[in-house]
Amino acid sequence: MGKTTGFKEYDRELEGYKPVDERVTHYKEFTIPLEKKAIEEQGSRCMDCGIPFCHSACPLGNLIPDFNDMVHHGEWEKALHILHSTNNFPEFTGRLCPAPCEQACVLGIIKPPISIENLEKNIVEIGFKNGWINPAKPLISTGKSVAIIGSGPSGLAAAQQLNRAGHKVTVFERDDKVGGLLRYGIPNFKLEKEVIDRRVAILEAEGIVFKTATEVGKNYALKKLDAFDAILLCGGATKTRSLPIKGIEIPGVEQAMPFLKQQNKRNAGILFDASDILATDKNVIVIGGGDTGSDCIGTSNRQGAKNVTNFEIMPKPPGDRAETTPWPFWPLQLKTSTSHEEGCDRNWLISTKSFNADVQGKLESLTTINVAWKFKKGGRPQLVEIEGTEKTWPCELVLLALGFTGPEATLAEKFGIETGPRSNYKARNYQTNKAHIFVAGDMRRGQSLIVWAISEGREAARSIDTYLMGSSSLPTKGEGDLPAM
Ligand SMILES: Cc1cc2nc3c(=O)[nH]c(=O)nc-3n(C[C@H](O)[C@H](O)[C@H](O)COP(=O)(O)OP(=O)(O)OC[C@H]3O[C@@H](n4cnc5c(N)ncnc54)[C@H](O)[C@@H]3O)c2cc1C
Repeated sequence: MGKTTGFKEYDRELEGYKPVDERVTHYKEFTIPLEKKAIEEQGSRCMDCGIPFCHSACPLGNLIPDFNDMVHHGEWEKALHILHSTNNFPEFTGRLCPAPCEQACVLGIIKPPISIENLEKNIVEIGFKNGWINPAKPLISTGKSVAIIGSGPSGLAAAQQLNRAGHKVTVFERDDKVGGLLRYGIPNFKLEKEVIDRRVAILEAEGIVFKTATEVGKNYALKKLDAFDAILLCGGATKTRSLPIKGIEIPGVEQAMPFLKQQNKRNAGILFDASDILATDKNVIVIGGGDTGSDCIGTSNRQGAKNVTNFEIMPKPPGDRAETTPWPFWPLQLKTSTSHEEGCDRNWLISTKSFNADVQGKLESLTTINVAWKFKKGGRPQLVEIEGTEKTWPCELVLLALGFTGPEATLAEKFGIETGPRSNYKARNYQTNKAHIFVAGDMRRGQSLIVWAISEGREAARSIDTYLMGSSSLPTKGEGDLPAM
């Protein structure tokens, strides 16, 4: 496996980024790919490590050492075959995955790990460029039909798997376009929407039917779903967390999601029926230090914000992997995204006390206080305000990126599905308390990651296939296909 001395010969190398001044003038992706030879060298860094922890750290069980080796040998089409056998959409994960595989890479113990995510992106992009990725219609038809509600990565992955098993699949999406948060959450500069369109065109050619602008339970009656043999709920976890403090109702204090969605619609030239939320010429404060907050920072800078400030209530993580999260665990470590690099003032251990309006009722500032976390042995950490540290920050736009509290309850109520304490839809092997209704993705596990959504879609498809046919030959996690050499 691999080139045994590759990791000694080559350092980790990643694709580059266009300069900040240039890239903040547009919403396109801004990476500079490596040369093919350099990527093949990166593949050769994969060691013959014996137990590939990367493989088990990947929610899809991607056969990472195997495709790394193919890349090293310049066998790109075989690498693509291996990658596609466990992952329906490497073009999404290759761009957007936080790559738990890299954090578990054995080489990472002594040196920077293999650039697995970037290899994945290159394998699939070379595949598209060479015309190796084409629709594959199912060879059989079972005569069974499945309705999938929601077209995010979980719904799309399940649709492709179920279609491959020979079932007739219809995907319902309430938005005007397919893709879920890939389409209307994640900014174009992280994922250009043509990347989604390219894949959806393949799924359509394979026979999957998409019905957009169709909200099940609203403009599509639940009763109509009786025509399907099984239903899969992939509605996401879209309920946002608010900050119930003084002034929350002031215009200019906005949730992150409508702000991000509006910009994605503007980029696509799609009109929307709401007042513009724009950062242009404003002092912008983004509350929340996660991925959504980071996406708001990148979008605000592109819209021409005067300046962008970011608040996080938790302490600043260490620059290196914290001792509490040793290899091969997902590390507690400071993350600096390309959006952070584009310009923002990051503040940790800070809590917002009030939003303040001027005499005309317009947002003019917010007030904060510094905080500390008191850790008690065996108890929950306690947030303590530090007296005398109140500060007022001028701002005309505040974006709340405070995470998500869970999925919307509507479908659970209408179908009579049991939910858990965080309102996640309950299921056993993806099957709910209604035998013909299944659930996958963020709707089942809470707001998570694309790689998990794809994994859940694949596993739910296998569970539905078993329910419909008595058994299933669809693969489960890590059951990939290695071509003969
Ligand atoms: C701003 C932001 C940035 C993110 N960035 C990343 C990242 O960089 N990397 C990463 O791995 N993850 C990221 N995530 C998380 C990731 O996007 C989600 O975990 C993933 O999209 C979940 O997929 P899903 O299919 O479960 O649901 P979703 O993608 O949420 O899709 C659910 C779909 O169901 C539709 N729907 C809901 N109810 C109905 C109904 N009744 N009828 C019809 N349609 C319905 C919705 O309109 C939506 O399109 C990000 C999330 C956000 C919010």
